[in-house]
Amino acid sequence: MNPDKTTHFGYRDVSPDDKTRLVGEVFSSVAGQYDLMNDLMSLGVHRLWKRLAIQQLSPRPGEQALDVAGGTGDLAMALQRRVGAGGRVVIADINAQMLEHGRDRMLDRGITAGIEYVQANAEHLPFRHNSFDLATIAFGLRNVTDKQQALVSMFESLRYGGRLMILEFSHIVLPLLSRLYDHYSFRIIPWLGDKVAGDKDSYVYLVESIRRHPDQKTLGAMLERAGFEQVSWRNLNGGIVAIHTAYKL
Ligand code: SAM
Repeated sequence: MNPDKTTHFGYRDVSPDDKTRLVGEVFSSVAGQYDLMNDLMSLGVHRLWKRLAIQQLSPRPGEQALDVAGGTGDLAMALQRRVGAGGRVVIADINAQMLEHGRDRMLDRGITAGIEYVQANAEHLPFRHNSFDLATIAFGLRNVTDKQQALVSMFESLRYGGRLMILEFSHIVLPLLSRLYDHYSFRIIPWLGDKVAGDKDSYVYLVESIRRHPDQKTLGAMLERAGFEQVSWRNLNGGIVAIHTAYKL
């Protein structure tokens, strides 16, 4: 393998193509248990993080929203409630199983209109440039092979004046919390993955991918490099996750 062309899959160095394939296998494997595992692993706190992120983004009635790596649709449902019937919500995700699972979930909740599903790679979003008022990506960016390219693609999809919100695991800023969190991450989460989803490896990847994700400041600089302005971030729970916001001006 050419070392200039390697990237990370958790703690392993792999080729970019292998990373995309391996991430695909992770989410195809976990799709059926994804929502249950999110609730168990975070003790439901991921719902609060998502609610705060949507509040901060403040979607308005009639807006056109794009949820990248939208998976089973938590953010898309919240966006749809805010943009209303006059707006539009598109979920773009690379993984057919995650999209299918999301669609079933929404049908079960009686949501039959207002959300479109597009299977697409975040690095090359297939939308007209300058078309969305807002874009979101929640717990998705760290799984993307070329994160910088994904930021550029989201920038292109947004209209001028549009805004981006990234909700992602980040770097803890409190040393004591960091030690507790390491214990929880490396011991409890893989155990839960094994017992509940029957797939320990995917949850080891989850924990390792969080450690490899750029910290708050690095991600802020990547957003600026992609063309975004007024970049800012807010830590939640001591930096376990961070909400980055940025504008295309
Ligand atoms: N946004 C959802 C949420 O917050 O619950 C799902 C997050 S899930 C941890 C990560 C999602 O990213 C998966 O649905 C996966 O298929 C998707 N994904 C991974 N790589 C991607 C890529 N290159 N382009 C688009 N989606 C991708």
